[in-house]
Amino acid sequence: GSRIAEIDPDLYKAIFAEERRQRNNIELIASENFASPAVMEAQGSVLTNKYAEGYPGKRWYGGCENVDVVEQLAIDRAKALFGAEHANVQPHSGSQANTAVYFSVLKPGDRILTMDLAHGGHLTHGHKANFSGRFYDVIHYGVSEKDERIDYDQLERMARETKPALITVGASAYPRIIDFERMGKLAREVGAYLFVDMAHIAGLVAGGEHPNPVPHADFVTSTTHKSLRGPRGGIILCKEEFAKKIDSQVFPGIQGGPLMHVIAAKAVCFGEALKPEFKDYQAQIVKNAQAMAARLTEHGFRIVSGGTDNHVMLVDLRPKGLNGADASHALDEAGITVNKNAIPFDTGTPMKPSGIRIGTPAVTTRGMKEKDVEQVADFIQEALENYKDTAKLHEIRDRVFEFNRAFPMPA
Ligand code: PLP
Repeated sequence: GSRIAEIDPDLYKAIFAEERRQRNNIELIASENFASPAVMEAQGSVLTNKYAEGYPGKRWYGGCENVDVVEQLAIDRAKALFGAEHANVQPHSGSQANTAVYFSVLKPGDRILTMDLAHGGHLTHGHKANFSGRFYDVIHYGVSEKDERIDYDQLERMARETKPALITVGASAYPRIIDFERMGKLAREVGAYLFVDMAHIAGLVAGGEHPNPVPHADFVTSTTHKSLRGPRGGIILCKEEFAKKIDSQVFPGIQGGPLMHVIAAKAVCFGEALKPEFKDYQAQIVKNAQAMAARLTEHGFRIVSGGTDNHVMLVDLRPKGLNGADASHALDEAGITVNKNAIPFDTGTPMKPSGIRIGTPAVTTRGMKEKDVEQVADFIQEALENYKDTAKLHEIRDRVFEFNRAFPMPA
């Protein structure tokens, strides 16, 4: 029996309803996944009770002998997984990992060259509403209008002309392989630090499905909860020469006590990612994304850049006369969860962008293969053809739930 149900029925109802929603719906949000029971167990453990400011062997608190083991396991596994010289596993989130990187080598007012949010970048890559846009002199690069891929020639020109202190690369909505080697060469040529934010693709990198940025970058950050399938949180990888700077920027620079239960769950996640099965999982994520993009194309949707190399696709809805807001709302009614998303050179508005973003990490965790995600694409097509007809959308939802029952959540 649930203790929350006994002592706090209102809260329990909401958690139970969320569990049911996650179980029933087809989850296509590209940044979400289903963590394993072992990851969940670590997060629900007694480690949540422990203060451990500092780092293994160098703490400000007594009684840290066990959490030291936990954190060292997480560090060693992260380094092994990505071939990194140094790992900091304490950032509470991806945004905090990024904050620590900027703070470690930049002064306010320094120039950074980063991917435009409107072309797939993240808020922490210099958006004006974010600290990164307020503290630094931001110049954005983007994708080319011709093929909707990063315009490396333009980027190189901008870097040579503007001489940034740091170049950020990585994205929240970019479906193609990123040429980290080329970016590394450019950064060295212009005397900039290269900072790779691999939050979305970290699982693919760990599984060998995407080139590893670590050899080319001064700093690499990631979230641990997306394709990597761990707990919500962040990590920083860097060269040994920056180890001290990074560690002191995370604590005491921007954080207090580390979340030891989450760090334990990161250790579980990295351990799972080091297993051979993880490679098969990541390969299937990409196969599923490609199969889904192909099927949606057959249905008359336009896939930005013509397809995908990774776990994510951006669907341009304009050929169907739809916008991302109406589409994501209709899909919600049909039991399919996506997010509305701007596409490069969008002609819509931020609240009504022209696209939706679709990712396959979560459905692949539940065991879907190519033919299954093709069926999901067919459901999407049917729902969007009937996007104004709530009764029809609910009839589709019954079939979506029935179909999804064959793919249980990890338990
Ligand atoms: N970096 C990228 C590329 C992301 O997509 C995200 C999350 O959406 C983040 C950083 C931030 O992670 P968090 O939400 O944990 O702060």
